[in-house]
Amino acid sequence: MIVFDSVAKRYPGGYTALAGISFEIRHGELVVLSGHSGAGKSTLLKLIPAIERPTAGTVLINGQDVSRLPRRAIPYLRRNLGLVLQESRLLFDRSVFDNVMLPLVITGHPPGDASKRVAAALERVGLAGREKELPAGLSGGEQQRVAIARAIVNRPSILIADEPTAHLDPAYATEIADLFKSFNRAGVTVLISTHDASLFAESAPRRLTLAKGQLLEAA
Ligand code: ADP
Ligand code: ADP
Repeated sequence: MIVFDSVAKRYPGGYTALAGISFEIRHGELVVLSGHSGAGKSTLLKLIPAIERPTAGTVLINGQDVSRLPRRAIPYLRRNLGLVLQESRLLFDRSVFDNVMLPLVITGHPPGDASKRVAAALERVGLAGREKELPAGLSGGEQQRVAIARAIVNRPSILIADEPTAHLDPAYATEIADLFKSFNRAGVTVLISTHDASLFAESAPRRLTLAKGQLLEAA
C-alpha cells in the first residue's frame, strides 16, 4: 500500500537528500524509520502526502502514483492519511476541540457527527473531557496527543509521524509510542520516524534505516 520504487529527492539547491530508495509497506504494518539527524527521514515522509515531490522514481499510495498526482487531487490523497509532521503545529489561540475538529471542517463533515468524532478521537488519545482547554495549558506530551487526535479524526488507514517523541521526557515518549502501537493493533498502517528506535524495540517492529539519504536495511 506504500511503495517506493527507486526514489530520489534532490532539493532545488542541488542537495541530494534521498537516492535509490525502494521498499514496500503492506496494509496493517508498523514500520519504524530510523537514522541520524539529516539522514533524510523527514524528506522521505513528506513524499507520501506529496508535500515534496520526488526528483526520480515512483511513490505509490494505495495503488495511486502520488509522484505524478495533479495538484487538485492532493487534498483527496491527504484525507486518507493521518499526518503528525514537524510542521503540524497546533493553533494555540484555539481550543483542543477546535484543533481536532479542523480536518473535519475542511472536509465539510456534518457538525453533529463531527463533534462525536472529535470526542471519540480525544478519548482514543486519553484526553476525554479536555475539549475546552487551550493547548498552552497542556504538557508537551498532551499537546502531542492533541496533534495525534487531529491526525486520526478522519479515521485514516495510514498514519505517518515524524519524530513524534522528540522533545518529550522519556515517560511521555513511551506513552506516545504505545499510542501508535495501539493504532496499529486497531488495523492502521503506521510509519513513524525516530532517532530512538529503542522506544519500539520490545514490539520488534520492522525497521527501515536511512544513512545519508540511502536505505541501509529494507528488511
Ligand atoms: P532528517 O529528517 O533525517 O533529519 P531531512 O529529510 O530533514 O533529514 O534532511 C535531509 C537533508 O536534506 C539534510 O541535509 C537537510 O539539510 C536537507 N534538506 C531538508 N529540507 C531541505 C530543503 N527544503 N531544501 C534544501 N535542503 C533540505
Ligand atoms: P468506534 O467508537 O467507532 O468503535 P474506536 O473506539 O475504535 O471507534 O476509536 C475511537 C477513535 O479512534 C476513532 O474515532 C478514530 O479516530 C480512532 N480510530 C480507532 N480505530 C481506528 C482505525 N482503524 N483507523 C483510524 N482511526 C481509528
